[in-house]
Amino acid sequence: MKVLKFGGTSVQDAVALGKVKQIVEAHVGEPDGVVVVLSATSGTTSQILQLIQKATLSKSSTNEHSTKDDNSTEVGHSTKNGNFTKNDNPSKNEYSIRAELVVELEQISARHIGIVHQLVQDGDVRATATEAVRKLCAELHKIILSVHTLGEYTPQTADEAASYGESISTCILFHALQANGIDAVLFDVRQIIKTNDKFQSAKVDFSESGIQTKLNLLSNAVTGRVFVTQGFIGSTADNITTTLGRGGSDYSAALIGAFTGSTEIKIYTDVSGVFSADPRVVPSAHPIASLSFDEVREMALYGAKVLHPDTIAPAVERGIPVRVLNTFAPDDLGTVITGQNSTTDRLHAVCGLKNCVMLNGKSAEVDSVIRSGNFVHNIVLRVSGIERSMVVLQLADSDARDHVVVSAVGSDLKSTDVHVIALCGPAASAPSTMAEVSRVCSAFSTRALATGISRTISFVVCDAADSTELVCALHELTTPLE
Ligand code: ASP
Ligand code: MG
Repeated sequence: MKVLKFGGTSVQDAVALGKVKQIVEAHVGEPDGVVVVLSATSGTTSQILQLIQKATLSKSSTNEHSTKDDNSTEVGHSTKNGNFTKNDNPSKNEYSIRAELVVELEQISARHIGIVHQLVQDGDVRATATEAVRKLCAELHKIILSVHTLGEYTPQTADEAASYGESISTCILFHALQANGIDAVLFDVRQIIKTNDKFQSAKVDFSESGIQTKLNLLSNAVTGRVFVTQGFIGSTADNITTTLGRGGSDYSAALIGAFTGSTEIKIYTDVSGVFSADPRVVPSAHPIASLSFDEVREMALYGAKVLHPDTIAPAVERGIPVRVLNTFAPDDLGTVITGQNSTTDRLHAVCGLKNCVMLNGKSAEVDSVIRSGNFVHNIVLRVSGIERSMVVLQLADSDARDHVVVSAVGSDLKSTDVHVIALCGPAASAPSTMAEVSRVCSAFSTRALATGISRTISFVVCDAADSTELVCALHELTTPLE
């Protein structure tokens, strides 16, 4: 069995979903079938969550709710306990808000029905699909308008509403596959992803979910069958809908891969894998053929826009490879992420942190600046001598730099704006690699070179002004794609 996951941009419109359909069809012969995990169409989850917020902007003016209004402070306070969210500062007339909600809900409905009409050619299936999408949209409509009537919602209601994004996208793909004669099953993932009741960021009960996967999914899996199911959502033991947190469908795919004992998980995005550098900074950046899980974790920590490593941990821990692929160029090799990396390459990727400051001075003064506020996001590097220290701090935000300058007044601390370039790869901190790195750095105003604590990372600290050129020069040391 294989798991294929498609993100929001891969299902954003009929053209994208047409590509998804082709990719899925190419996998139909997979032994024991295929599970296709989908996100909501791009922007839909955010739109639903915004609508639910907007629905609280004005409270109902009916008398039956006037008592509630009197309690608004109390209800407002309970927001802090995570129970209710309520906006007690209505700025718009409730009728105009209701009308705006209705317009936006109709837009969601029209967008998805439009996709059905473009994607599904067969007239009968198209009619069934349109009706099914219309029904889901009507249910969502009801939830949002009841939030508007009440003037408040709970995290449980937000999850219930948000789940419609994935319910609608899977409903569409299911019908499109069915219209092409595929043995497709629209599978409600809430049957197998069982969670606690921490709504909006529910924790998965691995043991119960594993049991339910065997009972409800694996028992029906056969070669040739395609299960189309939802990312991002789950349910409590009482079958109340939960969500796993924003962007949660990669995690769903990894979980389903782990519970079904899949041979591979393919995560389809809109880029051809994990790149060796940010292509906007380094035009020659290339997809990396293979990465270890530890490298992905380090790249994510040091500024690379890669999928969040925690989301694929359940798969990698079970030895299931995760392949990152491009829906719009499905023949590209992409990047395979595994627990181990046996390759002998030296460097795979160059990434970096921009908003950093290097402090140099008496150890006590350096320490006192670090302790003087919440402006440090991370201490990236630290070298403590007997009297003097050097630290490189990743700043929390743009105001933090002023804070450092103010804190350093009256001391002899020197602060410099720097960038930290992180080099990731199987032998990133090997002496031979460091020799090459220092040769490249000698042509730039480099402040520090350091090997990482782990074998797979090393660092270059440079002046902010030099960083783009230096990143490009260091990128030349990465292993190019064969
Ligand atoms: N649709 C959800 C979100 O936008 C989950 C996902 O796309 O991964 O957060
Ligand atoms: Mg998404």
